Amino acid sequence: MAMKLFANKILLADGWAAEQTLTIEQGVITDITQGYVAGAERAKGVVIPGMVNCHSHAFQRAFAGFSEQGSEGKDSFWTWRSIMYKFIEQLSAKDAQVIATQLYIEMLKMGYTRVAEFHYLHHDIDGGNYPHLSAMAQAIFSAAKQSGIGLTLLPVLYRFSGFGPKAPNDGQKRFINSVEQFNHLITECFEIASTHDNSNVGIAPHSLRAVDKDSLSAAVTHVRALDANAPIHIHIAEQQKEVDDCIEHYGQRPVQWLLNNADLDKHWCLIHATHINEEERQGIISSQAIAGICPTTEANLGDGIFPTDEFLLENGTFAIGSDSHISVNPIEELRWLEYAQRLSKQQRALLANSEQKSVGLNLWQRAALGGAQSTNSNTGELAVGKQADLLVLDDKQLRLFAHDDDHLLDSVIFASQQNLIQDVMVFGRWAIQDGKHALEQVSADDFAELLAKLSA
Ligand SMILES: [Zn+2]
Repeated sequence: MAMKLFANKILLADGWAAEQTLTIEQGVITDITQGYVAGAERAKGVVIPGMVNCHSHAFQRAFAGFSEQGSEGKDSFWTWRSIMYKFIEQLSAKDAQVIATQLYIEMLKMGYTRVAEFHYLHHDIDGGNYPHLSAMAQAIFSAAKQSGIGLTLLPVLYRFSGFGPKAPNDGQKRFINSVEQFNHLITECFEIASTHDNSNVGIAPHSLRAVDKDSLSAAVTHVRALDANAPIHIHIAEQQKEVDDCIEHYGQRPVQWLLNNADLDKHWCLIHATHINEEERQGIISSQAIAGICPTTEANLGDGIFPTDEFLLENGTFAIGSDSHISVNPIEELRWLEYAQRLSKQQRALLANSEQKSVGLNLWQRAALGGAQSTNSNTGELAVGKQADLLVLDDKQLRLFAHDDDHLLDSVIFASQQNLIQDVMVFGRWAIQDGKHALEQVSADDFAELLAKLSA
């Protein structure tokens, strides 16, 4: 059945528009008409497209904040990783579902309407296979369904602990699959996705330290046979040590190696392409691959700064992700994307351009479109033929800010201290209304109980 939604102000694919009625059928916008159409529900504020979260490890939400205690300047990404490995020793499939459900509800409340789950916790606590290889993946699908968020599941291929290849270590036993077993898992996940609304499947070769050339190409061939446009995400150059190890082993930098050895295209998303030189930057852009940037996690882990200013000036495509979930808020990701550039360059308003002078509007639109591309989903903008994934911003709070269209998203991203998102629609259904999710209390109780158990 069709539903109609009237908005006084809405950000459509070609810019701001006033007094529009959307017709939505089976989750998709089938018509946009000027003026109020009889029977339409009235949106309670300004309507903008929902954001896609291009990079999530759901289970990490449960220990966000557990690794912020200093040890005389010796903390790094690698010490954080040891804490993370210790933590996952205890997690069951049911626990993973409790965490993901809570996280996805939080994402929806903050304006993410779809998530790309970079999913690498595959096996039982002792490292043995579950009776169904996809048991942990099923937990993620169930969490997405319960919460109502759109899901792109990216099971991770993890083979080795380092270049060489080095054998996996004990902390990695729940991640490891042979290529044959991994491809079997992917086939199972495609079957699950076919029975879940608003979901799709791709793959995530973990990183060049965890896969070699043969396993990478075998996994890509398999998934591309199932879906020629399946997303392929990879962690690529997050840490300087990773770059150094890659040069030592391959004689090439990670992105350089990938450009030379994998057929990158617009369905590849390079997560944390932080440490790249000019040639690699241009190589990513000409391959049409997406840069998946996670500003708050990259700051939290002391990774480094992606050259976003240069990348956008040359028309690169980017998406944002909450990764470790130290922050679950697209507004904060975009704010820090711009602020990192300001701090390093001692200039302001860098991520705007002559066509789009508003940093906020430019970043929101480009991140949403890049996120849609990174998930091969029919989302990212509001137009006829696109999914009705949208946010309604609270008019009562918005009135405290400059109200002209040019400044609206700048105020939202740079100046608002509270969550302005009142209602959230995903695939034509309200997931959040008046700031609340129907399951938020139950989910929060389950999550708190789990946290108490895990820290006991
Ligand atoms: Zn990651």
